[in-house]
Amino acid sequence: MQRRDILGLAGAIGAAAALPGVANAQRSLEEGRFPKPSGKYKRIGTEAAFATQPQLDGFRDIGKYLAEGADLSFTQILLGDSDYAKDMTPRLLNIGEGRIAEMDDGGVAMQVLSLTSPGVQLFSADTAVSIARESNDILAEAIAKHPSRFAGLAALSPQDPKRAVVEMERAVTRLGLNGFIVNSHTDGHYLDEEQNWPILEAAEALGRPIYIHPRSLPETSIAPFRPYGLGGASWGYAVETGTHGMRLLFSGVFDRFPNLKIVLGHMGEGIPYWVYRFDHMYETARRNWGTGGLVNTPSFYLKRNMMITTSGMFSESVLKYCLEVIGPDNIMWAADYPYQNNREAAAFLDAAAIPETQKIQIYSGNAERIFHLN
Ligand code: MN
Repeated sequence: MQRRDILGLAGAIGAAAALPGVANAQRSLEEGRFPKPSGKYKRIGTEAAFATQPQLDGFRDIGKYLAEGADLSFTQILLGDSDYAKDMTPRLLNIGEGRIAEMDDGGVAMQVLSLTSPGVQLFSADTAVSIARESNDILAEAIAKHPSRFAGLAALSPQDPKRAVVEMERAVTRLGLNGFIVNSHTDGHYLDEEQNWPILEAAEALGRPIYIHPRSLPETSIAPFRPYGLGGASWGYAVETGTHGMRLLFSGVFDRFPNLKIVLGHMGEGIPYWVYRFDHMYETARRNWGTGGLVNTPSFYLKRNMMITTSGMFSESVLKYCLEVIGPDNIMWAADYPYQNNREAAAFLDAAAIPETQKIQIYSGNAERIFHLN
């Protein structure tokens, strides 16, 4: 891996990544800053990453023949022997007692687990199908051992939508999983494209949401983001995943699949901020040039078909704005464990000056409803 990529990633996931010895120190500093949260709330973390050995083995194999890309850098860091990897990779792999101890420390009652980014999105179709299936089995086993502490989202393979749908049905009806995870684009393709409609149709029919989690922009558009580490979590992930969300809102898939639910992390990947402007421009274009074709305005679908989570965005002013724009029924709490700190995520919502009833909805009520956790 090139040093340039590593430095880019450092901007993406926090400076700790590139500085040996800093990751653990930063974690204990954060924990010192935020006291152990009270037991007042049932906190359900709706974005909580885990890894499986088959997935890491897949990352190891792919590293042999792919030369670059921010996702690749990240996968290779997880496999490496930096202090960051020594801290993070075992925590990702732990979906048992070790994780539960950290949940207890962070005041987290339950995690909705999902295979860490970029999930299976980097792999060839056959590899993606088999790693998704194996990982979903491992996930279901962990949930069976700790049913009150874990729920889970099934990985799937848009590389092969037909086999993805087979796995989606198995994941819900046989494994009892609670939804699906897709790490944004797959080879530069997005879920609004017609070949992926069977995936959207299956999610709607099964009554389970698809969580669209960030990954790096495709190679065709990442170049301007490479300097200064802007390709990752500080900006590029939101551009990529927000674009995915906007494509869904503007494409008409929510007229075709009116009961489909899509979850976006990081307070909606910037989309709520743009509601005024994109509705206005949609209408302007429709009136003047006859474009459009939606039954409603784009923001209608944002409120009806999308949920957002607080993952990695612990800002009270953003929370209040999102409550105003998309409402208390559409926001769920998440820490983005283990990449961000459970205690900080809890301290943020505990302290927020919003009605108590809304905190309960955000901490647990909405997740219980959307992921069928009861
Ligand atoms: Mn995440």
